[in-house]
Amino acid sequence: MSSIQTVGIIGAGTMGNGIAQACAVSGIRVVMVDVAQTAVDKGLATVAGSLDRLIKKEKLTAEGKAAALALIKGSTSYDDLKGAQLVIEAATENEGLKVKILQQLDGILAPEVIVATNTSSISITKLAAATKRADKFIGMHFFNPVPMMALVEIIRGLQTSDATHDAVKALAEVLGKTPITVKNAPGFVVNRILVPMINEAFFVLAEGIATPEDIDAGMKLGTNQPIGPLALADMIGLDVCLAVMNVYMAEFNDSKYRPAPLLKEMVAAGWLGRKTGRGVYTY
Ligand code: NAD
Repeated sequence: MSSIQTVGIIGAGTMGNGIAQACAVSGIRVVMVDVAQTAVDKGLATVAGSLDRLIKKEKLTAEGKAAALALIKGSTSYDDLKGAQLVIEAATENEGLKVKILQQLDGILAPEVIVATNTSSISITKLAAATKRADKFIGMHFFNPVPMMALVEIIRGLQTSDATHDAVKALAEVLGKTPITVKNAPGFVVNRILVPMINEAFFVLAEGIATPEDIDAGMKLGTNQPIGPLALADMIGLDVCLAVMNVYMAEFNDSKYRPAPLLKEMVAAGWLGRKTGRGVYTY
């Protein structure tokens, strides 16, 4: 059981609209706020399209789609967040922007309302300290695409209370997700392990130990991963992988997080992966 009936979401982008969909199909009311009406409309259209695909796969009925969409209110006004028991911040990954949003929320939301952030890389403890509700602040790190991915990392800042943790964990379960509880640290758990693995694949490639195809086949077939690390780097973006390694290097000050020179070289060449048509592979 979760005591959360209405969830506010800040940002109607990739993650925001995915979280909105996951909530609505689980019967939770959503208020999804973005800065421009065009962004709100695009987010709502993405949810509708995603629900249509579920209907095609016979995982949802037309009535189910209508019921889910009826639970999502799009808005450009933070005032519409009044009445939510939890607000999940899923705006652009920028610390200054997120701090501004959190301070704006402090002025609008009742003191008992829980605020979560979907940030991938900013310290939960530091963001909590910028709010007036540090004990009611927590990380709720969903994975993309949210409706498909089972995991939610629940990240406790130093100040997060047990009650806040338990309420958010219960909500993740209502959404049909599997939550894991994580202490605040760079990369949390999944990206802390995943991105250095990808980085290591670039060292292996640069040393000429195997071809990219064989490195990926080895990791797919030898560790039962659905995709090899180099193909995954192309999907995530080589620039994103490099930026994450640079954060670990700076935060931990440990040479085991040294970015692979080949990764840096490819980023310098503009070979960023699928989004530029070329990364490790050509698209
Ligand atoms: P996105 O660019 O798709 O969407 C961000 C949205 O936030 C945009 O629509 C933008 O207009 C909106 N926004 C900006 N400022 C705002 C404000 N002041 N108020 C309301 N809305 C505002 O980004 P995304 O990929 O959805 O990422 C959102 C967050 O989720 C980031 O913190 C990111 O690190 C995190 N995240 C992303 C992924 C991923 O794979 N994309 C995975 C996990 C976590």
